[in-house]
Amino acid sequence: MRILVVEDDPDLNRQLVSSLQDAGYVIDKAFDGEEGLFLGETEPYDAVVLDLGLPEIDGVTVLERWRRAGKVFPVLILTARDRWSEKVAGFDAGADDYLTKPFHTEELLARLRALVRRAAGHVTSTIEIGDLCIDTKGARAFINGNPLKLTSHEFRILSYLSHHADRVISRSELTEHIYDQDFDRDSNTIEVFIGRLRKKIGTDRITTVRGLGYRLCDPSAPNQ
Ligand code: CA
Repeated sequence: MRILVVEDDPDLNRQLVSSLQDAGYVIDKAFDGEEGLFLGETEPYDAVVLDLGLPEIDGVTVLERWRRAGKVFPVLILTARDRWSEKVAGFDAGADDYLTKPFHTEELLARLRALVRRAAGHVTSTIEIGDLCIDTKGARAFINGNPLKLTSHEFRILSYLSHHADRVISRSELTEHIYDQDFDRDSNTIEVFIGRLRKKIGTDRITTVRGLGYRLCDPSAPNQ
């Protein structure tokens, strides 16, 4: 995992870099906003630690520009004590978490681990399983870029399965997650929907695991 540290205080920068390296991360460092902005724009990071009070370009602006450029890596901002408005600006600019100075290294490491873990899941609203693409925000699905015509029920099933791709999902779990509390649940209807979905997306994408449930997979991936 590769992490960028942007901090102008030389002592704190050194301390951050050394503790993150000790924790097994690969670190790039920057001491001002301009350098940090450039690195974030050009290098693939798994997470960024970004001080907000920076020379050249302030941290909030750096973060805004990364997000505008489509950079989705998780960003943990470092703020001065009692600067609540700075935190608000940081979150509005796209921060995922923050720490107030001074902080304990252990807490920074724990927060970074959590950020990296979440980012390895689904950092954007789009999920891709092979050539199947689910736009969870727009509630649309595509195969090879071609939109699928799905009913809302079919989409909900596909969306749930794709959030948990490669895991076996039981019929009852599916039912619990695609219907609201008041809906008259009948798990047999799931079977009907799965059948329709298979016709639309290809029969080999949803496998039936007898007695357990269904699994969405990438049929072109090895060992499926
Ligand atoms: Ca600073």
